[in-house]
Amino acid sequence: MGFGSKNKMSVIEARNVTKVFEGEKRVPALDDVSFSVGVDEFLCIVGPSGCGKSTLLRIIAGLEKPTSGEILFHGQPVTGPTPKITMIFQTFGLLPWKTVIENIELPLEIQGVEAESRRETAMKFIREVGLEGFENAYPHDLSGGMKQRVGTARALAVKPEVLLMDEPFSFLDELTAMTLRKEVLDIWNDPNLPTNTFIMVSHNVEEAVFMADRILVMSLRPGRIVGNVEVNIPRPRSRQFRSPAFFEYCDKVISLLEEKKLENKLVDEKKKHQGGRLWK
Ligand code: ADP
Ligand code: MG
Repeated sequence: MGFGSKNKMSVIEARNVTKVFEGEKRVPALDDVSFSVGVDEFLCIVGPSGCGKSTLLRIIAGLEKPTSGEILFHGQPVTGPTPKITMIFQTFGLLPWKTVIENIELPLEIQGVEAESRRETAMKFIREVGLEGFENAYPHDLSGGMKQRVGTARALAVKPEVLLMDEPFSFLDELTAMTLRKEVLDIWNDPNLPTNTFIMVSHNVEEAVFMADRILVMSLRPGRIVGNVEVNIPRPRSRQFRSPAFFEYCDKVISLLEEKKLENKLVDEKKKHQGGRLWK
């Protein structure tokens, strides 16, 4: 059984996804993760650092294989990367030797889109994210917020149905982050764009409550889903940002995070008293 949204057709479904990295050390990263995401839904996933959030996004994107379980996209297993599901990275992932427009064109070039058409598409998304006039700049000349806009334009240009975002604002100052959060919500709401399903990983609870329809809370590693919180605060939420309801949701999510931390600690303590080797 997974965590799903009410009354919504699911686009992405994670079924019993487990991931164990087998290297020098065996690292169980995800444990039996099941949930679904609806069309038009903005889902946030929060959890402590190292609990497998990035791993989960990479598995959804088809960039990594689960050890067991599967990801379904419209009911079909995801077996590799597809332009229908694209990712925006925390560190922007831009090629420093390419200009803004060349960076945005790159995935289209890889898809074999011819030069004129990909330039046109890239320009459309440069306008969409407010980077007009910067198309020939290089990444090192841009601020963090502008780099993230390039990353966003590049992800949108392939016209994905699902956009995955891995802590996209964590390297930005708070003012820039707040502007970009609103811009991302505008993109999500834009009826002219085919990108309607958003899955955003965050370790910032307030950010998640500000943006999400629903928040999945993950435990410490190996990541399991320990909470599913529907955020019923009317949009736009800018004015709600300091409201009691807003903080009630934050508290709810934080207490879910804390509860599991404590529980894990107690399990650890118990194992320690049972001889130690288990928890080493
Ligand atoms: P999060 O994004 O929640 O911080 P990650 O998904 O990056 O967590 O990582 C989860 C765990 O899996 C961490 O302990 C990390 O060190 C480990 N891990 C991630 N990628 C690899 C890999 N390619 N090989 C081995 N271990 C990995
Ligand atoms: Mg991560």
